[in-house]
Amino acid sequence: MIRKERIQRDIETLHEFNQTPGNGCTRYSFSEEDRQARAYIRSEMEAIGVQILTDDCGNLLMYGKGKSSRHVIIGSHIDTVPNGGDYDGILGVVSGLEILRHYHEEGIVPEVGLVVVAFAEEEGNQFSMPCVGCHCMVNHKREEALNRVRDDGVIYRDLMESFIEKDEKGNLDLDSVLAMLEIHVEQGPVLWRNEMEVGIVEGIFGLERFMIRVEGISNHSGATPMEGRQDAMAAAARMIQTVQKRGREAAPQVATVGRIHCEPNTVNIIPDMVEFSVEVRDFDHGKIDATYDLLWKDFTEVAAQEQVEWTKTPIGFSPVIRLNQELIGQMDRISEELGVKAQRIVSGAAHDAAIVADFIPTEMLFVPSVDGRSHCPEEYTPIEKIVPAVRMAEQWVREMKSK
Ligand SMILES: [Zn+2]
Repeated sequence: MIRKERIQRDIETLHEFNQTPGNGCTRYSFSEEDRQARAYIRSEMEAIGVQILTDDCGNLLMYGKGKSSRHVIIGSHIDTVPNGGDYDGILGVVSGLEILRHYHEEGIVPEVGLVVVAFAEEEGNQFSMPCVGCHCMVNHKREEALNRVRDDGVIYRDLMESFIEKDEKGNLDLDSVLAMLEIHVEQGPVLWRNEMEVGIVEGIFGLERFMIRVEGISNHSGATPMEGRQDAMAAAARMIQTVQKRGREAAPQVATVGRIHCEPNTVNIIPDMVEFSVEVRDFDHGKIDATYDLLWKDFTEVAAQEQVEWTKTPIGFSPVIRLNQELIGQMDRISEELGVKAQRIVSGAAHDAAIVADFIPTEMLFVPSVDGRSHCPEEYTPIEKIVPAVRMAEQWVREMKSK
């Protein structure tokens, strides 16, 4: 039986390995807290005879036995953002641990082995690159990932290698892996509002980001009449309004201005330069492009009226990720068979699964986040809303055929 008490205990115990007790959970990869968290996970798995290896990227791999030499992965990350929650990432790992404990307890040996993976450095806290361990495992941007340098000059590879020095090593043979499943908190409000137990994830939003530079003319804020001003701030403010408007018109697309910089940024001078970011995310790149086409027209119109110039620089792009259709259909069926209240959903945030999806058939299950809160101490999912996804994952592992 999938036992909620054990999952609860895992979550509570992992919370203790935390740099910021009383103010959320802070645990960076290859820190003392990470060492304690890994030691706990190991002790749970050693108690049921699971083989534990660390790969040369710093990911922790727990091998549950199958009848064949093929594997499926259930995995996520155990690092957190600063003052983050107890569920983001952690849930995907402890779900896998519970399934292995259940198999051990019931004497179940599925046709394929279940490898539970705790991915290293997913959040991108230290090396300005998310999913470092995951990139490295699937040999995508592997050298770039291993050679990332932290602000204090420490290289990922050096930090990781000294951290895992005493571990038993071994890389996962990707050719043996049939599929991967990541269970994760939604980090948004959809499932909670809809009173759903599970989100069957169809894919992950792509995004495009630009920096917009608006140039006007600075002048004395008292001596310059309103008529004829070339105020970069006033123009930027109108442009930013259009970003919100276009995003709303294209919902569920999201559009955000998150960063702004103004010069000379003082109280008595009309600004001559404002730079701001624009980010648009959608499940369809055509729709992202359509929004930008509208925005460029809007900006040009505003600039003409305010007598300023504007230019754009692309600063970021992530492709839309479509998860495996067959696995999505399988999850639809499993949710019906188990009587789990589930709906299809698209992820607005990126995850390890987004990296793996290009190499291995991949699917994600979301559980609800209370009030949609995540990356904060308030992040919470009641245990009753976690168990249905774990039960679905457990059936999924047993159904997989070695082919
Ligand atoms: Zn996460």
